[in-house]
Amino acid sequence: MSRVYNFSAGPAVLPEAVLEEVASEMMDYNGTGMSVMEMSHRSAAFQTIIDEAEKDLRDLMNIPDNYKVLFLQGGASQQFAMIPMNLMKNRVADFIVTGQWAKKAYQEAQKFGKANKIASSEDKTFTYIPDCSDLPISPDADYVYICENNTIYGTKFHTLPNTKGKTLVADVSSCFLSEPVDVTKYGIIYGGVQKNIGPAGMVIVIIREDLITEDVLPGTPTMLTYKTHADAGSLYNTPNAYCIYVCGKVFKWLKAMGGLSEMQKRNEEKAKILYDFLDQSRLFKGTVVPEDRSLMNVPFVTGDKEMDAKFVKEAAACGLVNLKGHRTVGGMRASIYNAMPKEGVEKLVAFMKKFEEENA
Ligand SMILES: *Cc1c(COP(=O)(O)O)cnc(C)c1O
Repeated sequence: MSRVYNFSAGPAVLPEAVLEEVASEMMDYNGTGMSVMEMSHRSAAFQTIIDEAEKDLRDLMNIPDNYKVLFLQGGASQQFAMIPMNLMKNRVADFIVTGQWAKKAYQEAQKFGKANKIASSEDKTFTYIPDCSDLPISPDADYVYICENNTIYGTKFHTLPNTKGKTLVADVSSCFLSEPVDVTKYGIIYGGVQKNIGPAGMVIVIIREDLITEDVLPGTPTMLTYKTHADAGSLYNTPNAYCIYVCGKVFKWLKAMGGLSEMQKRNEEKAKILYDFLDQSRLFKGTVVPEDRSLMNVPFVTGDKEMDAKFVKEAAACGLVNLKGHRTVGGMRASIYNAMPKEGVEKLVAFMKKFEEENA
């Protein structure tokens, strides 16, 4: 067996301990004589799996009782439609556009009502987070929408926007469980799990109960109504049972590691190793303004496309894979999620130093 250091933005690295555990349970999960993949989602064994997963997530994030946790399909992208269909009572919502994912959510919401772009960082290729302390929030806005960590551009809201009392909705796909969070500041927190939690195929929606109503936009399908899934404990139809199982294992792994404050400490340590190197490098340069840098996704460039390609190729040959940047930014991007060990980042920086000596 030969494992690489996988810097992919998603689907992404998973904790090795979790992979080993699910492998060991593949043929016989907990005395059931079958894999979780083969198991009825209506079985007692699976009910225990989903209940524990929810409980562990509630413990990790300190989720108050007046919030529901939903395990849904359709990815984060489906939420771009589901959120306006369920929340746009006045058919107005405000968007802070800080990257491609926020922009897609903003464009999708236009199908359902008036989506206002109240701030954007597109003028500088999304390399910063705009000042959101005093934005022109619409008086009749049903919610204010952000993408909290911008996977492609490597920026993060370190301060939440002042929504002037309006409900905040946040896509946290690429920073889910990377640090402690005050759930009470949000109406909805949601994210695809394939970035920082588990395998692809599921989105977790944490939603305040008063936002779960039958009063949705006319024509909203049953499957796209939060109430359907909230009333059925995420078992209205067959869920992504195996994904729920693996995510549950990751929650237990995170708890065993010491929870989200410990993850934040580790993530800060890892990111510092990389940013400190970038800040003094003669060859590589980070693309984001320092105050808005993400702990999870770190884009960098040499300024020379051929040199970038050479770096990505030689790094891969050394077992440091998936470092190619998003096509809209170019260069490189290292995603250093919870499951990326510190040694992975140290090896990457050591390789960058060597590459710089040989090529600068
Ligand atoms: C990857 C990503 C998405 C899209 O997720 P899908 O599950 O593929 O729909 C949305 N938002 C953010 C922030 C992402 O990183």
